[in-house]
Amino acid sequence: METLKGADLEALQLKRLRRTVRQAEKVPFYAQRLKEAGVSVDDIKSPGDLTKIPFTYKKDLQSGYPFGFLAVPLKQVVRIHTTSGTTGKPTVVGYTRQDLDNWSELIARNLTMVGLTDEDIFQNAVNYGLFTGGLGFHYGAEKVGMTVVPSATGNTKRQIEMIDDFGVTALHCTPSYAMHIAEVAEEMGTTLNSLKTGIFGAEPWSDNMRKILEEKLGVTAYDSYGMSELYGPGAAFECPERNGLHFWHDSYYVEIIDSESGERLEAGERGELVVTPLNKEAMPLLRYRTGDLTMLMDDDCPCGRGQRIARIMGRSDDMMVIRGINVFPSQIEHVLSSLPEVGDQFMVYIDRINHLDEMTIEVEMNREFFSGELQDLSRVQKKMMAALKDVLNLRTKVILVEPGSLPRFEGKAKHVVDRRGQAF
Ligand code: ADP
Ligand code: ZN
Repeated sequence: METLKGADLEALQLKRLRRTVRQAEKVPFYAQRLKEAGVSVDDIKSPGDLTKIPFTYKKDLQSGYPFGFLAVPLKQVVRIHTTSGTTGKPTVVGYTRQDLDNWSELIARNLTMVGLTDEDIFQNAVNYGLFTGGLGFHYGAEKVGMTVVPSATGNTKRQIEMIDDFGVTALHCTPSYAMHIAEVAEEMGTTLNSLKTGIFGAEPWSDNMRKILEEKLGVTAYDSYGMSELYGPGAAFECPERNGLHFWHDSYYVEIIDSESGERLEAGERGELVVTPLNKEAMPLLRYRTGDLTMLMDDDCPCGRGQRIARIMGRSDDMMVIRGINVFPSQIEHVLSSLPEVGDQFMVYIDRINHLDEMTIEVEMNREFFSGELQDLSRVQKKMMAALKDVLNLRTKVILVEPGSLPRFEGKAKHVVDRRGQAF
């Protein structure tokens, strides 16, 4: 499945696409949509014919809250999850037993791809509730036969003791929480010797952050991508090459489009990720606009597996427009994490002062570089502002703060506070 190519892959995708369109027709929203577009399953004669079908947006799913997008009776739904609600009212996702099996299979495939086996001890340090990262990885890791430690989040000291006491070899959590675990481990004076693999995802993180986490935790770190609407994590994952994430082509049909025009883009061109899941039973989706920004890689991966996407740069609604310039939190993270003086956290505040947007970034200093000498601090501050200006093309104000003084996150981090809408 993983290395399927050419006509064989196309035939499989076509078969599954047609099945998905038929399944979607059971949802009143899609029946209506397809009718309006004058498209039926008979019009899908090659995977490319999918472009005849209109996009599905997050707001469509929200309008069907809670169960309007189910294609099967609730009786056949054995579990529901919801999105984290990062961007408004959460979306409810339903799973049939078959969906849960498919999903576990994909997660198991990812874990196996990076060399994990039934010899491994897997600590799953993410939220176990409605968030798909918890149960999703849990059952995938069990399927591989790993010894799973369902530690969930919180009580970071206890998490670290468990890693040491149980000899945990693989850790799954958000990159933000991994950073916090590393920090607390350092304070506790443990080097987490048993750890060898880190699986981090659910939010954007840079290659610099990868280097820092690998060094601090002593792991090889892999990026994991997914979203609740696509089952959850497990949709795309890095192979040992760690140069792009393989998007499982037997389970998801991927397009990259220009967000504005909706036109399809070529490999190598950055745009919005649009996904049609090929195996979903309870909640089929057609051309779902993820809002996530990435591109299809235009070269073949030496590992022999299929299509890859570049690491996610952020989502289109993360983008801040500051004095007309587009800025993504991930760009700021990228700049800051390349500077040795910077510690683990930053926080961005956006204000409108005298009709002008002002961006202020509070940056925690690295413990080693943290000294009370004002002169030194202002040099570091200037250096940061210059580095940010180079990349963002924007003047920012940097405020250096003490290590450990900004909030920590157990799940997805929140780095931006936009105060422009507020009256002062
Ligand atoms: P919500 O959309 O409410 O946050 P989810 O928990 O389903 O709900 O989160 C999915 C989103 O998380 C994705 O659309 C994407 O923006 C982000 N995400 C997930 N994995 C990654 C990753 N590896 N890199 C960057 N962003 C990611
Ligand atoms: Zn590969």
